[in-house]
Amino acid sequence: MGGGLWAGTRSVRYKMSTISLKPRRRANPGIRKLNPYKPSKSVGDLSMQFGITDVVNLASNENPLGPSPAIRRLLTTLSVSRYPDGNGSMLKEALAQKHRVSPEWITLGNGSNDVLDIIARVFLSPGSNSVLSKHAFAVYRIVTSAVGAVPRMVAANTEVHAMPYGHDLNSMAAAINDETHVVFIANPNNPTGTWLAEGELRRFLDVVDRSVIVVVDEAYIEYVEEPGFPDTSEWLKEYPNLIVTRTFSKAYGLAGLRVGYALSHPDVADLLNRVRQPFNVNALAQAAAVTALEDKMHLENGIAVNRRGMRQLKGGLSAMGLRYLPSAGNFLCLKVGSEAMKVYEGLLRRGIIVRPVEEYGLTGFLRVTVGLTEENERLLTALAELITGAKR
Ligand SMILES: *Cc1c(COP(=O)(O)O)cnc(C)c1O
Repeated sequence: MGGGLWAGTRSVRYKMSTISLKPRRRANPGIRKLNPYKPSKSVGDLSMQFGITDVVNLASNENPLGPSPAIRRLLTTLSVSRYPDGNGSMLKEALAQKHRVSPEWITLGNGSNDVLDIIARVFLSPGSNSVLSKHAFAVYRIVTSAVGAVPRMVAANTEVHAMPYGHDLNSMAAAINDETHVVFIANPNNPTGTWLAEGELRRFLDVVDRSVIVVVDEAYIEYVEEPGFPDTSEWLKEYPNLIVTRTFSKAYGLAGLRVGYALSHPDVADLLNRVRQPFNVNALAQAAAVTALEDKMHLENGIAVNRRGMRQLKGGLSAMGLRYLPSAGNFLCLKVGSEAMKVYEGLLRRGIIVRPVEEYGLTGFLRVTVGLTEENERLLTALAELITGAKR
């Protein structure tokens, strides 16, 4: 609650607990019990809490370069007085070309989180369940509970597995029952960074009944350089129950504009588009996403910056004796140990925001986004100060 529009309204404080008591009882039961998504600390929080303005934000896996310069120019020229194109025709056309499908295979979202929410509303309801891995992206659980369905959380790989805490597809397949309507898979996964190879993902899709929707969330795929990593958008014609989700929030640097999309068989896309709000992707976001797809050089730059930053971070962390989970994305999940929350606070006081991942069942870990060279350096220096002598 900073200044701006709400400055001066501070004195008008209602007793929320008494006001909300009765409507609370009328809320959808899945939502009453829902443990909501906790966003990371923001740059604004830090300036209010500690008066720090020189902040390095490595908390949310955004692209440290930001969007293509062409987008910054574009945003100043667009009109905001008209409704956006409700069909998103230009963007869908550009995406259709990129993925070599026709536009009927695409569903646009206000971020890919919106697409995940739409998928839950279409395929899940009270009495059905979704299967997801422990330590998987939190939104799968939230969208499932919000429609009154049950998230079936499956045990992940153990710590000694080659992909520690990653998805265990055999256990996930075994957890599917007659009430399972959706399976959520993140590849690579956030917050672990772990990934699934082509062979194992294919075997999974081959054994799952074709009436069960399998969502493969590829939010970080542009960053992935591991050989044998599957691009499941190329498998859509083989699996009519497959939905692939993609986003402009990470490698394309457009997290603040909110654009994502799903690729699926047109029959599935038709269902998704029935509940999609007609203007869910705003006009600036649509235009920016089209421009982002054209600026391949900017995308490549960002990938190169990530590759170098990843090497820098891994080198620095290893030198300190800090371990991290394998990651194919633009972030690392660090094993800090019992001092993790103290280290997190210490970083905040030094103007560096990272992400505690306790709520993901990863107590003792911190997730850090790969930033620019100077940002990574600041993180490493601060970590070295905080960790020297600390018990791990
Ligand atoms: C960041 C992220 C997304 C992207 O969400 P948007 O709503 O598109 O910003 C999706 N899935 C995973 C696993 C993510 O980490």
